[in-house]
Amino acid sequence: MSDYILQVKNLHKVFTSKKISVKAVTDVSFNIVQGETIGIVGESGCGKTTLGRCIVRGIPATSGSVLYTAEDGETYDFLNIDRNKLKELRKDIQMIFQDPYSSLDPRMSVLDIIKEPLEANFPDMSKDEMEYKAIEIAAKVGLNTSYLKRYPHAFSGGQRQRIGIARALVTHPRLIVCDEPVSALDVSIQAQVINLLKDLQKDMGLTYIFISHDLSVVEHISDRVGVMYLGKMVEFAETEALFSKPMHPYTEALLSSVPVADPTVKMDRIPLKGEIPNPANPPSGCYFHERCSYFLDKCKEVSPEYCEIRQGREVACHRAEELDLRGFSYDE
Ligand code: SF4
Repeated sequence: MSDYILQVKNLHKVFTSKKISVKAVTDVSFNIVQGETIGIVGESGCGKTTLGRCIVRGIPATSGSVLYTAEDGETYDFLNIDRNKLKELRKDIQMIFQDPYSSLDPRMSVLDIIKEPLEANFPDMSKDEMEYKAIEIAAKVGLNTSYLKRYPHAFSGGQRQRIGIARALVTHPRLIVCDEPVSALDVSIQAQVINLLKDLQKDMGLTYIFISHDLSVVEHISDRVGVMYLGKMVEFAETEALFSKPMHPYTEALLSSVPVADPTVKMDRIPLKGEIPNPANPPSGCYFHERCSYFLDKCKEVSPEYCEIRQGREVACHRAEELDLRGFSYDE
């Protein structure tokens, strides 16, 4: 039996139209242990949401595999199973969406919204049982169950996200892809939703892929973090190691832009130069070379290999080993 609940291997997603093709995700690989939270960060347009959607088969990947180890110990390529198997396993892998306003059908009552995945995945379940399960999960995520016959517009942003979470959890999934689940919410509500996700994880043994552009949120919730730039994974490490000693220049620049609440702390900011390049026409060599403070001539010509620099630490940079030797506090 595999040690991992999910193994993403060499995943590619290319969007093509008559005139252009855009590599949204290029050769992304990582593994997830059951009960773990993997954070995926990067600026807007880096491919993190596309990656999440490919993993849950919301959109078809161009190539690669997503090996899912089910509860019975069998491992399946989630991207290449037939319709019947997909129907059986779909309930195990769910998604929570970014926008709690647009992701809920305004014409359906909240009870019907939460019940919907049960209707799709358990056709033999009685209506009474579906209703019981929907009410049970609504209570678990902190919704007032006397209001479930109301429509989404009657709920606040935080409550709507709780409805989205209840809908994702009602089938008792094992893995959830959370796509920017708190970015549309006020800061005070963000903390409540994050704490709810952490409590539910403990309680239900959930595994999360947590996609966000917000580094503070990702640091708070993740066990390991992957950093994406222009569709590629450029660094992957345990959260504490990555935040105390970033090895990729892009990660370093991203971290140095996070505001620190203490005004006495002097920030050595490493500005991110320029804009993210057009993914339809990416730069040669290292995709980050036009914005990198550590640029070498070869970076313009040769794409760096994504490799393990030390145990559990993968980086794609020609200067990774050199940057690894700098004097940070992180030690293995
Ligand atoms: Fe910067 Fe070169 Fe490393 Fe790319 S390969 S991140 S350009 S130092």
